[in-house]
Parts: sequence; structure tokens; C-alpha cells
Amino acid sequence: MAIRVLSSELVNQIAAGEVVERPASVLKELVENALDAGARRIDIDIEKGGTALCRVRDDGGGIAREELALALARHATSKISALDDLEHVVSLGFRGEALPSIASVSRLTLTSRTADASHAWSVRVDDGRTSEPSPAALPAGTTVEVRDLFFNVPARRRFLRSEATEFQHGHRLIERLALSRFEVAFYLTNNGRRVLSLPAAVDRPAHEQRVARICGEEFLSHAMHVDHRAAGLRLHGWISLPTFARAQPDLQYWYVNGRYVRDRQLINAVRLGYRDVLYHGRHPAYVLFLEMDPAAVDVNAHPTKLELRFRDGRTAHDFVMRTVETVLRETRPREDGAGPGYKATIVGSGAAAGVGAGAAAGAPQVSLPMRGEGQARLDLRELSARYGVGSDQSLAVHSEHPAHSGHTAPTGHGAPNGEESFSASEFPLGFALGQLHGVYILSQSADGLILIDMHAAHERVMYERLKQLAAGTAGAPQSLLVPVAINVTQAQADLAEEHEAQFVRLGLELDRLGPEQLAVRQVPALLARVDIAALVRDVLDDLAEHGTSERLADKANEVMATIACRTAVRANRAMTVNEMNALLREMERTDHADQCNHGRPTWTRISLSELDRLFLRGR
Ligand code: ADP
Ligand code: MG
Repeated sequence: MAIRVLSSELVNQIAAGEVVERPASVLKELVENALDAGARRIDIDIEKGGTALCRVRDDGGGIAREELALALARHATSKISALDDLEHVVSLGFRGEALPSIASVSRLTLTSRTADASHAWSVRVDDGRTSEPSPAALPAGTTVEVRDLFFNVPARRRFLRSEATEFQHGHRLIERLALSRFEVAFYLTNNGRRVLSLPAAVDRPAHEQRVARICGEEFLSHAMHVDHRAAGLRLHGWISLPTFARAQPDLQYWYVNGRYVRDRQLINAVRLGYRDVLYHGRHPAYVLFLEMDPAAVDVNAHPTKLELRFRDGRTAHDFVMRTVETVLRETRPREDGAGPGYKATIVGSGAAAGVGAGAAAGAPQVSLPMRGEGQARLDLRELSARYGVGSDQSLAVHSEHPAHSGHTAPTGHGAPNGEESFSASEFPLGFALGQLHGVYILSQSADGLILIDMHAAHERVMYERLKQLAAGTAGAPQSLLVPVAINVTQAQADLAEEHEAQFVRLGLELDRLGPEQLAVRQVPALLARVDIAALVRDVLDDLAEHGTSERLADKANEVMATIACRTAVRANRAMTVNEMNALLREMERTDHADQCNHGRPTWTRISLSELDRLFLRGR
């Protein structure tokens, strides 16, 4: 075949292959255009899953009569004019490809009216030809009607799923966009039936209503609000309590500068923020917004704009990870009644700085029960020694302090027998009444009954204590008597050399023995017993993929979790009231205390009013 220039219609149809995959992609382009046009209200109508009709009506700025044809021309856009503009593009569109592409595979009508026009104008595209504008009736704004999608591309049509499925895709898409712009109202109908009504949401409660409508009440009532700024970045939104973890990563919404994204780095950053509180294989739920200088993130990396390129990915990644980590640390019994099943709110830039840091230092020591008394102590001493945890320190944490074990509250405040009233704010977990079936602690709090899973709670307390210790002694490097030789690829060995400084910071000292061999001479004390060769290889894989690795911290945490589980009080171990109260006080001081190391709740509350309701007791 001789070389020919493709007709513009064919070019559009080929481009449509990239942009227009299914009705939901049409809706995405049209709704994004409406948002870019400054709409305050967007009405979307779908018929037959969107194959018969996708119509999007907005009250935005509109398009002037003279520009209607241009809007439908390829590479015509009002959003950028020079390459420089791409640097700080804030609009959702900018390629000028969507309308001509959609028009080339459907029957498209564009009707629009600017604020100063006396009436609207309408154009239609037929076989690649745009009609002359004709007068039409429409309030200010734009309506784009797309009928018979893929009527001229049978191959595409065959790939479409059932109407119900295509509608679901469209529905999800609209929900996703609605979460990105709370101030815009969204209304969606399917075959004439209203399926989504989201009035403009202007304050936090209204935002939360929209979140609940889209992500479910359950999510919202198990979510913490986040709002944190640092280094020119702002992260805000809602993240689920670890106890609300899901089997699928199906409730994860990420927005960067108002744009929905699925970016591996960001998803990974949140996952790492949760790594200490989620059971393996479970997924957090969240709606998160990252705001940053548009010039610092490239949204042009991919036509669907789902993946990003950060100018400084490391900073964004760490900022997200640390913020999530810090907020989750606050999942401990709180005076404001927050707790498992209750909504907690953490706001402010102070939150990320040093929260929970001093918990061990100045806090009075209280006695914690241990498995089989002396027996448990022995175990702990042995474990501590075995894993290199400074044994004196670790025993100090767990040893009996007669001075404090005589009474319930370390400050001498309040009494469990009800004679003195105590302040809920100081002791949110109340005072122990007794033990239930050797598994649960019953406690009376200011407003009702608290039930605590004693093993799970104790395990978390021990784990957090060990982590604090590890930050000191156990993290210190320990020389290996016999260096461990590891065979790696040449690329891995190069990587190891390149990242030497990072390894040293992690307490690992590596030498290169040959082109494909490394030797480990020093490891962090806590990791002296793990399979160090496997660990180093995993770290190298991480470095190759992400440029960073959290493996060592993960592994150290795993070892500590095992120690915590082994030393935590077992079921059916009788506890004295003093011991129980000591555990409650310890929980109140411990980061993450609301869930055990596997992400299950450690305690729950039944309020007096709930009890009253149970007994039909009016008050
Ligand atoms: P892009 O959004 O990448 O600029 P499109 O093909 O989606 O490209 O749209 C082309 C142009 O048409 C836009 O730049 C904008 O000027 C105009 N336009 C499209 N939809 C609307 C709308 N709903 N309201 C106002 N102008 C619109
Ligand atoms: Mg567009």
C-alpha cells in the first residue's frame, strides 16, 4: 500500500481507541469538562448502560457560538497554550482530544450558552462533519449528548459488557468524581430513575455525609479524619480504623490536586503507614487528598492520567506514610469517648510531631500480670537476651512495683468501688470489676461498661513497649562472629554499594566480596537470628523497585510481635483486680492500643443508654 495521510475522522477514531473504552470513559471526559468549566451542578443521565445515551448537563461557563466547532476539533483546547503551561496544569483536561474522539464513535450533540448570550447554540457531528450552529433553548451552561456509542465500531461494541455492568462502571466513576469536588452538586439518573443525589457540600458534616453516601456509613463511623500540612504538602481526608480492615483493596480513593489517581507509590505509602496495625493480607480503606505544588507533579505521564510522576517522590511518599502512621498511633482509648466503633478525629499539623513519643519515659511504672508469674519473667529474660533486647530495661517495664500495685490508679485517683466518682477523661477505660470466662475483663467506666480482650490488649501493650526499647538498644548494630556471605546478581551488588549509607543507617554493614558476592558483617541486634541473606535480598529488591526499603523495620517488628505474643497473659490466667487495672492504665498510655497486633479490636464499650435500651428502661 502506498503511504497516505489518514483522514481526520480516522485519526479521531484511532485516538478514541485510547480515550473511549466504554460508556464510563465518555462520562469521565464529559464530567471533567464540566468541572473544568466551573460547574456548580452537574446532571448526568444514562440510558441502557450508557450505550444508548450519556448526557451531561452543567451550569458552567459555556462555549461561545464561534467556538463550538473548535471545541470539537482535534487538539483544540482552551486550557493550555504553551508547553510551559503543562508544568502547572490544574484543569482535568488539556489535550483537546476528548470531544472529537467521542464524536467520531457516536452521535454527538453539543449545546451551550455563555452567560452573556441571549440563547443557546447547538451543533451536531455526523460522519466527521460538524453542523452549522443552530439556535437552541438552554439556561447558561453546556449539555453534551452522546447517543449510540460505538454504532460505527462493531469491534468495540462487542467488548462491552451487560448494560447493568456498564452502568455500574459509570456509577462508580461519577462517585469517584463526586468525592473530588465536594462543592459541586451531582445528580445521576439511570433509564430515567434517579440513582444518586449529592447536593453541594460546603462544611465538614456535609462532606462526611457525601463520604458516607458513597463509601458507606460503616466506613465513616470507623474512620479517622486527617488533616496535616508540612513542607508545602497537605494530606487530608479519612482513613479507616485498623479494625475496619477489608479483605479487598476496594475502598481506596486517592486524589492528587483534585484528580483521582491510582498511583503505586501513594498506595504503597498508605500501606506502609498501616503496616504495624493490619493483619497480613488485609487492606485499609480510605479517602485521601494530597495537595501540592502542581509543578512538582507530572500528570502528563499517561493518557488516562491515573499514574503520576513526582518531581520528588520520596518526600511525598514519606510524608504520606508518616502522617498515616502518626494518626493511627492515636488509636488508643480516648477521653472524648472515641474508640473502636466510634469516630475519632485528628486534625492539625501538630499531630505528626512526637505524638506518643514520651509514653515510656516519664510514665509511672505499674505492674502488669504475666503468664505464670516467675515463669513468664524467666521467659521474657531469656527472649530478651536471645534477641539482644537490653534485659534490664525490658524487665524494668514489666517488673512488679509494690508501691504502685497496691492501688488501682497510679495517681491514687478514684476508686473502683463506686464511692468516689472518677473522671472519664483521666481513665477512659474505667476500673475493673472482674474477669469473664478467663478471657475478658469487665470494667466500669464513667458512662457504662467496658469489655477488654485481655490477651489481645496485653499483647499490644507489650509490643509497643518492645518497639520503644528497640529504638534504643535492640536497633544497635551487632557484629557477626562469622560474616554471612550472600550470592547476588552483579546489579544487586552494585545497588548494595550504591546504597551503602542507607544500609549503615539500618544497622547493616555490607562488604562486596566479588562481582556477585556480598558479605554481611553487622546486623541490628534484634535481627541477629533471622535469615539475614533472604532479608538482604528482599531489601535489594525493594531498593531496585522503590529506591527505599522498610523491610528491616518490618522484620524487627515481626520479631517483637512474636515476643509480645509469647509473653502476653494467656486466657484462663486468673488476674487480680489490681493487675487488671494496671493493664487498663497501660492501655490508656499506649499507642495503637485500640487494636491488637493483628488489627482486631482490643476493647469495646456498652454505654449506659445502650444498656437502658436493652432493658427498655426509660430515663
Ligand atoms: P480538553 O478538555 O482536553 O481541553 P476536550 O475535547 O474535552 O479537550 O474539550 C475541548 C474544549 O471544549 C475545552 O478545552 C473547552 O474549552 C471546551 N469545553 C468542552 N466541554 C465544555 C463544557 N462542559 N463547558 C465549557 N467548555 C467546554
Ligand atoms: Mg476534556
